[in-house]
Amino acid sequence: MKPQALVIGGGPAGSVAAIRLARGGMQTLLVDKKQEGHDPVCGGFVSADALRLLRRAGIDTDALGGHPVHTMRFQVGPRRLEAALPFPAIGLSRCRLDMVLLQAAREAGAELAFGRSARSVSGARTVAFADGGNIIADAIILATGKLNLRGMERPGESAHGSAKVGLRMALKPGAACAADLAGTIELHLFADGYAGLVLQEDGNLNLCLSVGARRLRDAGGSPDRLLAALAREAPLLAERIAAGRPRGGWSSIARIPYGWRAKETLPGLFRVGDQAAVIASLAGDGIGIAIASATAAATALLEGGP
Ligand SMILES: Cc1cc2nc3c(=O)[nH]c(=O)nc-3n(C[C@H](O)[C@H](O)[C@H](O)COP(=O)(O)OP(=O)(O)OC[C@H]3O[C@@H](n4cnc5c(N)ncnc54)[C@H](O)[C@@H]3O)c2cc1C
Repeated sequence: MKPQALVIGGGPAGSVAAIRLARGGMQTLLVDKKQEGHDPVCGGFVSADALRLLRRAGIDTDALGGHPVHTMRFQVGPRRLEAALPFPAIGLSRCRLDMVLLQAAREAGAELAFGRSARSVSGARTVAFADGGNIIADAIILATGKLNLRGMERPGESAHGSAKVGLRMALKPGAACAADLAGTIELHLFADGYAGLVLQEDGNLNLCLSVGARRLRDAGGSPDRLLAALAREAPLLAERIAAGRPRGGWSSIARIPYGWRAKETLPGLFRVGDQAAVIASLAGDGIGIAIASATAAATALLEGGP
């Protein structure tokens, strides 16, 4: 099959683009290198803007079951700053969000293929896969997040992208911690990084760090040793983690190109989500940018062609 639109990547950007394109009557194929149901590195904070955009994409946000968040708290050693969020948000695992969006794309009529890793894009419309296959499409939606394909490198990537590492794990929180974090996104700031804690839909705690790669290297590459090293700078974070029980292991991502913004593209190639722009982690707008850029690209494609 030669799809009219080939969406590479099934995160929020790729899924929302596929939903919009398929609903608009375009023959759409979405491919992702991972299997459905993985839990990517993410702070799990879904902002009011992101929720509004999801509703506009036809997603029932109440049915997501996210943990309501109305307060933000910054903790620096013993010092604390707390304020009401201007608009309510939710804590939600990315596994849950991504699965709901992929299902919506399927229901809209898009074809989905998992375990297919795109290797390179050439001539803007031909994609080569790791399994040796090629797909030529009328238009390509590049939604591979922070990761690049050959031929699609972001200029300045190595300069931008080497300094920070993202780490994520879920924990079953201790009772006191769960009570203290109810309704709150809590950010712990320390030298060269920060960690976010938020309760998610299943009552587990999402722990996510954005930290200088050097700090992880100094801890021998072990996130657990890094956390132990942070205990003096962020004692409350250490206390919360010590009271929790890990649910699964760490996920990680390196070379995050913070500050990247796409300024140009090729005819027929639409960069969306983190392929369009990368904002600071846990600012709560990455998912919103992903959905907004995907909606804009799909609308442009449906209305204007490649
Ligand atoms: C540490 C950290 C914390 C964050 N916290 C938050 C937060 O709390 N709230 C928020 O709104 N944003 C947060 N963000 C940002 C947010 O995660 C991203 O902005 C958002 O995920 C971008 O969506 P996307 O669909 O563009 O990319 P992604 O979500 O990264 O999805 C990309 C998809 O493409 C697939 N893929 C990649 N390469 C290939 C390939 N070669 N072939 C096929 N498939 C491929 C991947 O498997 C993945 O499914 C955080 C980011 C980091 C790093």
